[in-house]
Amino acid sequence: PMTEQTQTPETQSSPSTDVGKSDIIRVEGMHKWYGDFHVLKDLNLTVRHGERIVICGPSGSGKSTFIRCINRLEEHQQGKIIVDDVELTDDVRQIDSVRREVGMVFQHFNLFPHLTVLENCCLSPIWVRKTPRKEAEATAMEYLERVKIPDQANKFPGQLSGGQQQRVAIARALCMKPKIMLFDEPTSALDPEMIKEVLDVMIELAGSGMTMLCVTHEMGFAKTVADRVIFMDGGEIVEEAPPHDFFTNPQEPRTQKFLKQIL
Ligand code: ADP
Ligand code: MG
Repeated sequence: PMTEQTQTPETQSSPSTDVGKSDIIRVEGMHKWYGDFHVLKDLNLTVRHGERIVICGPSGSGKSTFIRCINRLEEHQQGKIIVDDVELTDDVRQIDSVRREVGMVFQHFNLFPHLTVLENCCLSPIWVRKTPRKEAEATAMEYLERVKIPDQANKFPGQLSGGQQQRVAIARALCMKPKIMLFDEPTSALDPEMIKEVLDVMIELAGSGMTMLCVTHEMGFAKTVADRVIFMDGGEIVEEAPPHDFFTNPQEPRTQKFLKQIL
């Protein structure tokens, strides 16, 4: 039989040669309903350590609901979701553990307006991870430097631009030292001139080996960093392919139609 190595040849179009061999997320036959509305239909997805996945699809196709299920902000009703070897069930302890390992960045930043940038970044490390304050602050400053806004540490979110706030939101998530980062349209609420500064931070993060699932319509980002692009429509995963194949040779009519509209 073929070995693992011969199955991942150097010639692969994917930019990542450092993707691990083991799975960090497994979604199997997953369904979700909101009341009578069947919002997610038989989703199957395996993500390996260090993989970068871009999820796209029309508005209302279930992208947000899907990634929110992965950190248990939403519950699924059928099938399995396994994150870092833990199956997501109703067990409260394991919900806490999955939230510690999975960072999330939202379209509307969701920073606490009454806390400074530094306090926003330290809150969860101190209260959830029980990190001593001094250490939490030192870590927060490291991440604020990494997203290039250490000088904003003592300001309140309302005093920052949208792009700066989103970079704080990314730093805040990273302060929990997550194994996986979920992004839900992180640039779609930003003015055009601020999109790049957020994408640059995400590109840098992708280069660091972080496992990332990004819902985004930034197709340039998808081409640059994604190992795979997933297209969702009507609550289903319609197509999944490496970016080059996805953009140059989409197989499904629904994918072709979507790409025509956005490109
Ligand atoms: P996307 O992120 O792809 O735009 P969503 O996951 O937000 O899609 O929504 C998928 C579908 O589920 C939409 O039809 C939306 O109206 C519906 N939906 C989202 N959240 C809820 C909710 N809390 N209750 C009922 N329906 C919802
Ligand atoms: Mg959404």
